[in-house]
Amino acid sequence: MDFQSNDIEVLEVKQKMAKKTVADIDVKGKKVLMRCDFNVPLDDNCNITSDDRIVKALPTIKKILEGGGSLILMSHLGRPKGQRDDKMSLAPVAKRLSELLEQQVIFADDCIGPEPKQKAQALKPGDCMLLENLRFHKEETIKDKAAKEDAQLRQAKDDFAKELADMADIYVDDAFGTAHRDNASMYTVPMMMEGKPRVIGFLIEKELKFMGEALSNPGRPFVAILGGAKVSDKIGVIENLIGKVDRIIIGGAMAYTFLKGNGKSIGKSLCENDYIDKGQKLLKQAADAECEVVLPVDHHVVRELKPGVQYRTAVGDIDPGFQAVDIGPIAAQTYKEKIADAKTIVWNGPMGVFEIPPFDVGTKAVALAVADATDKGATSIIGGGDSASAVNMLGLEDRISHISTGGGASLEFLEGKKFVCLEILDEK
Ligand code: AMP
Repeated sequence: MDFQSNDIEVLEVKQKMAKKTVADIDVKGKKVLMRCDFNVPLDDNCNITSDDRIVKALPTIKKILEGGGSLILMSHLGRPKGQRDDKMSLAPVAKRLSELLEQQVIFADDCIGPEPKQKAQALKPGDCMLLENLRFHKEETIKDKAAKEDAQLRQAKDDFAKELADMADIYVDDAFGTAHRDNASMYTVPMMMEGKPRVIGFLIEKELKFMGEALSNPGRPFVAILGGAKVSDKIGVIENLIGKVDRIIIGGAMAYTFLKGNGKSIGKSLCENDYIDKGQKLLKQAADAECEVVLPVDHHVVRELKPGVQYRTAVGDIDPGFQAVDIGPIAAQTYKEKIADAKTIVWNGPMGVFEIPPFDVGTKAVALAVADATDKGATSIIGGGDSASAVNMLGLEDRISHISTGGGASLEFLEGKKFVCLEILDEK
């Protein structure tokens, strides 16, 4: 097995190819090691404030347990930086999972070492065990590029991964939120389990189906809605989407880097001056590809961003001393119309500072427009993060085709980036 020589930079991701899922394999009597995304929000007393990520993992978990597999679950929680931190223990997740499954979930106090190993060996068919936070060990997050350049790091990452890999006969990945990373549990472990079944769970299957189909075979018009703070974060996405989508609607702070490049006065709105030229190039590229780019023509502006502050509406130029915090009513109406006829929609990033009402109005208008278009038959995909929060806040989840469980991962998928940890898993 020569996984060290694998150059993850050059691995080609055949994301369109269907991956084998847990439904394609026999788990009876087997030990199954499954990577989940149990990175749940906790309050100061370590109570889970949303069990959404646990609930979403249930279909795959149940499939394995009902199929007679012995299940070993692993996940990260937060960023403990390679050290044990009881505030980021997965123990509350084991408790909640026990309640949801109506069976005891065994908890291992560490993810490697003698205790989890013994407990894994003792598991019977239908038993479920959760390992403690993977990121209590710094080896989990060693990047493969770094490991390739440093023999000690390579050894440390491999030793850590081997302990996990040796526990099981089958590897399952259902953690889309970290699918764009090459963490030990996502990449090195399945590489070490070469020759054994290595498949995806139902959650990742759904993510790949929705996003893969949207990019490769979209219903048209195909509309992308991009917002949020930084244009620099979304350059790659815009570049990849020009030529694929019919229309790109831009809101949020990132719009002002484009508008300044277009010669507009933007007051003290957020702007990435280093990206003005790049923004202009993208607009030209889009025009050449006959991809319509829609920017806000009016804005809600404030002198200072704070709760309860008075705002006013600026059409066109923004006066010095004022900062845009949301798209204005004309833009909101235009965006609504530009979304109404869409047959495929991808949305990532809010239209304004939606955390501080009333600067959530533009984001809410867009969320409603996306839900309305979905009711009329469009496929809508929300790329996690703030846009997903906005949809949830409005109770519109059921009127959206797919809300991704991975903000960063879905963005990288839309950028057309390679997901090496999925590439290595079994094809149908
Ligand atoms: P991102 O993580 O890039 O998706 O950005 C999300 C953040 O962008 C949210 O916290 C919003 O408050 C912020 N944001 C959106 N529009 C604006 C704006 N016009 N001015 C300042 N921040 C904004």
